[in-house]
Amino acid sequence: MHLFDTHCHLDVAPLYDQVNQVLQRARAVGVLDFVIPGVDQGGWQRLLKLCVDEPGLHAAPGLHPMYLDLHQPLYFDELEALAKSGQIVALGEIGLDYFVPGLDRQVQQHLFETQLSIAYKTQLPVLLHARKAHDQVLATLRRAKFPHGGIVHAFSGSYQQAKEYIKLGFGIGVGGTITYDRATKIRENCRDLPQEWLVLETDAPDIIVARHRDEECNRPEYLPEILMELATLRNEPPEKTASYTTNNARRILRLK
Ligand SMILES: [Zn+2]
Repeated sequence: MHLFDTHCHLDVAPLYDQVNQVLQRARAVGVLDFVIPGVDQGGWQRLLKLCVDEPGLHAAPGLHPMYLDLHQPLYFDELEALAKSGQIVALGEIGLDYFVPGLDRQVQQHLFETQLSIAYKTQLPVLLHARKAHDQVLATLRRAKFPHGGIVHAFSGSYQQAKEYIKLGFGIGVGGTITYDRATKIRENCRDLPQEWLVLETDAPDIIVARHRDEECNRPEYLPEILMELATLRNEPPEKTASYTTNNARRILRLK
């Protein structure tokens, strides 16, 4: 099986400090492709270098809506230059977070729209971070007439919202949350959504899968557990789930 982890922060602690071992263990269980999303400008060079050095790693730098204090206007030019350089597959992670208290919504909106316009003109998909803000994110995408699609990472919205994202060309990121029985709504959505738009992700080192909840952090080698859970929910062989989620990721991110 060839699995694709569409959201994995290999460039941050504690994964970065042991990245060779982390990658080796993930590859040993069939995880061969990884998208590394950005968080802040300070991390972009390390992220890019990692993706140049290692096969199967794909860079998606961007300015994350949770770290507003770290971002400066001049970083938009740098991001645009990166987007034009051919070194990156998407802009990420970008979006709106209405869950964490104290994040200025106007500042977030400006950050999101500016990065969306960079992705628009450089013809790149985007990785979306959206929490308690799906309607606002969808409205922003529609207003921008954003045509390049992407992936909604760690999707937690309603079935209807998922369908709206799909209409706009966005894949639905399925992560460790589905391994928890209490996540009824997300599990039902993952069971019912069309297979053409489902992709897998760990969000490592975050969103640890249920069976490893006592460990220090999440790891991409646990992606098969998310795959197995999704296959069980959808009542299909895991080989099939692996094949379409990987193909979807490649199609959405326009990888050869
Ligand atoms: Zn993330």
